[in-house]
Amino acid sequence: MQISAQNYKKNLIYAKKVVLLQRISSKTTMTTLTSFFSDAELRTAQELINQSNNVVILTHMSPDGDAMGSSLAMRHFLESLGKRVSVIVPNPFPDFLAWLPKADEDIIYEKQRDEADALLHQADLVICTDFNDPKRIGSLGDKLLTLSCKKMMIDHHLHPASFPDLTISYPTCPSTCELVYHLICELQRSDLPSTGVADLQRSDLTNIATCIYTGMMTDTGNFSFNSNYPEMYQIVSELVTLGVNKDAIYNRVFNAYSADRMRLMGYCLYSKMKIFPEHHTALIYLSRKELYRFNFQSGDAEGIVNLPLQIKDIHYSCFMREDKVNPTELALAGGSKTKIKISLRSQGDRPVNVFAKDIFGGGGHANASGGEYYGPLPEAVQRFLDNYKNYFTPRL
Ligand code: 5GP
Ligand code: MN
Repeated sequence: MQISAQNYKKNLIYAKKVVLLQRISSKTTMTTLTSFFSDAELRTAQELINQSNNVVILTHMSPDGDAMGSSLAMRHFLESLGKRVSVIVPNPFPDFLAWLPKADEDIIYEKQRDEADALLHQADLVICTDFNDPKRIGSLGDKLLTLSCKKMMIDHHLHPASFPDLTISYPTCPSTCELVYHLICELQRSDLPSTGVADLQRSDLTNIATCIYTGMMTDTGNFSFNSNYPEMYQIVSELVTLGVNKDAIYNRVFNAYSADRMRLMGYCLYSKMKIFPEHHTALIYLSRKELYRFNFQSGDAEGIVNLPLQIKDIHYSCFMREDKVNPTELALAGGSKTKIKISLRSQGDRPVNVFAKDIFGGGGHANASGGEYYGPLPEAVQRFLDNYKNYFTPRL
């Protein structure tokens, strides 16, 4: 019997699909690539988890994909161990992350303070994901420090604060979700005392994998920065095998803009972007009036700071937006009614976190930092203009 080239190709694709489906349906664990954590970290993590029944997971203000993904992945994992788990976020998350499994059950501190406080008082373990300091969760931070229960931090920002009983901090890891992947894998190691993790159901695994993939994708700009090492793609391969639909996640996160958000981006690029070619720098700033004109929703400003980096020879980008001072920040604001949120991005070996810290009292990663300025927008802009040349060096 002769097989035409076309049929042969069809059969091959079919055979590959069968093998993949067999692998998918038989998988009930995540595969450990290498030992990522120290034994001490793992054993303490396991002890804290084993000794807890009521867990609260917190993540940072204006939650992004990594914050939502890491907190929800931990939630699904701990629920599969029979724990009662809630996730509390300081303020609302953007619509383009609302589809994440169980995101709709997140408690929003700004709106559900009594419910959140009650859960925090009942908690015997609080897990902080994707933030390094109580300051990054607004007034929820003060509450956190008053709690006597055990605390664990899983994060990838520099300089973690010292409040937790266990700090899992890996600033070189591109996302907290990647750390959560390693943690869940390694807690299943057979040489550790049992956590009951072996009972993970397929649907739990797919939910965990979906949350983890989302954070890995968003914190690397869809694998376009901090993403150049093979292990990352071994993890992605594992997650896809566990049922992640990466194309669907991309569409839900990156192709989900409202028309207003798209127009706001157009406005920023056409009317607001200032270029300082000698220092390879771009600056965009928006007043509250301008945001109002485009029916600004939480999350709409996400990504604007990255746009100028698409221009040839622009290596530094700054985006500022005017915001209201909320009642819990009055002491910090020192009488100012406006707060300016500053975002900074850069490419390659050109850190912006020192500028963020020195000039705007903020910080962050070398290529993605931010800060805040309490005062009028023109003052913040002037502060930027007075200082950027000293930090954003032209490279020969
Ligand atoms: P974004 O521009 O997305 O708001 O923030 C980018 C990164 O900058 C965050 O992941 C965080 O590390 C850091 N960052 C943003 N705002 C602040 C801030 O007010 N203080 C500090 N210390 N870091 C910030
Ligand atoms: Mn992150």
